[in-house]
Amino acid sequence: MDFNDTPQEAEFRKKVRSFLEANAEKRSTLAAKPKGDSGSSISSAGAPETVKGEDAAKVALDNAKEWQRKKADAGFAAILWPKEFGGYGGTPIEQVIYAQEEHDYFVHSGYFEIGIGMLGPTMMAWGKDEDKKRFLPKMITGEEIWCQLFSEPSAGSDLAGIRMKAEKDGDEWVLNGQKVWTSGAHFADYGMIVARSDPTALKHKGLTYFYVDMKTPGIEAKPIKQISGSANFNEVFFNDVRIPDSQRIGAEGDGWKVSLTTLMNERLAVGDPPGLDFDQIFEASKEIEVEDGLAVKNSEVRQKMADWYIQSRGLQYTKYRSMTALSKGQTPGPELSISKLVTASKMQDVSSYALDLMDMSGMVHQDQNPILKNLFQNGYFFSAAMRIAGGTDEVLRNIIAERVLGLPQDERSDKKLPFNELPSGKN
Ligand SMILES: Cc1cc2nc3c(=O)[nH]c(=O)nc-3n(C[C@H](O)[C@H](O)[C@H](O)COP(=O)(O)OP(=O)(O)OC[C@H]3O[C@@H](n4cnc5c(N)ncnc54)[C@H](O)[C@@H]3O)c2cc1C
Repeated sequence: MDFNDTPQEAEFRKKVRSFLEANAEKRSTLAAKPKGDSGSSISSAGAPETVKGEDAAKVALDNAKEWQRKKADAGFAAILWPKEFGGYGGTPIEQVIYAQEEHDYFVHSGYFEIGIGMLGPTMMAWGKDEDKKRFLPKMITGEEIWCQLFSEPSAGSDLAGIRMKAEKDGDEWVLNGQKVWTSGAHFADYGMIVARSDPTALKHKGLTYFYVDMKTPGIEAKPIKQISGSANFNEVFFNDVRIPDSQRIGAEGDGWKVSLTTLMNERLAVGDPPGLDFDQIFEASKEIEVEDGLAVKNSEVRQKMADWYIQSRGLQYTKYRSMTALSKGQTPGPELSISKLVTASKMQDVSSYALDLMDMSGMVHQDQNPILKNLFQNGYFFSAAMRIAGGTDEVLRNIIAERVLGLPQDERSDKKLPFNELPSGKN
């Protein structure tokens, strides 16, 4: 493990810091918001607290686009992307450094990560040259926003169970079915979608990958209202949606292979979620009064905080290990799954405990909340989603068990049968 930046890394960090200092507002520990209030990738950050509902959503989106434009002009919008598409042409370690530095600033992010982090790299790996030229630069500048149309009511962890139909009709494809939990589909301009083009093939072989213009007739996005009051993700219905074959990404039947590119990038994008941690509850405990005085002096509270401190440091050293690997040009392995697993449940524990400490004001979730401006209330709602998005706790534990500890694989009895012969409750 190496805790220090190399001279080149230190130089890059300095450049990033001076860009951020000149263009963004630094935040205090207690103002450090979780990345989104209830969506893995879509945050409502940036909306002034006096603006409500749809207006707030529009203000937040406009602010985010403005920030994205600034980042793009400075070359920092997509560190890993090649320069020809407007990226920085940097290395994974530079991407980590940028994220670390930006985390200390209050910036309007959350709308572009799916495109830049996952879908853009998929188009780069599998798309046609004319599509790359047409779409990638506008993805970086934030002029066009993309969503990921993968999950369905019966295909989430088991993504290859997709039932959305893609039927060929001459030079066109006709899409019918439903997607769900699609972050940002209600404001996205384009989406990438996987659909079943051959139900008689094996489960992983009968899928094909496309991109769609979200304004195509027959596509309807219905926002899902969440417990936090926000509506960041959607059900998306496809009714006889016709798209040209030129919008196919990868070969017919190669949808699973193409999706793996998206999913591998998703693991990198969500592997290290920011959010509530020891620092926030420690600062808050200096303000919150419990029955025998300030919470920070209470022995039970201190015991809890010591546990979270130990977990945080453990995570920090795990991160140093992967940073060392990245710095040496290696790729961190499946052991990184532990990072999201621990972070998300720690965030849930910390926020739930803080709400208890706040007593009745813990239940108040409104602009005038006197303590910490809803920091822990938002964290409480968001952390539950974090335990599901980008791989549920159980799925991450399976990955650790099978690929890190070498335990026997889960039984996968559906691998050898054609999809339309799998028992489904309908046949
Ligand atoms: C905030 C958020 C944003 C999201 N954004 C998007 C998006 O933009 N696009 C998109 O396509 N999807 C998105 N999703 C969906 C997400 O990918 C799925 O919710 C996730 O993959 C889990 O799938 P599921 O909800 O169908 O649950 P299921 O897979 O049905 O899981 C239900 C339960 O069964 C458990 N389980 C499942 N399989 C196993 C197993 N093999 N072993 C042990 N336990 C198992 C799970 O852990 C879980 O507890 C988002 C989800 C969230 C929470």
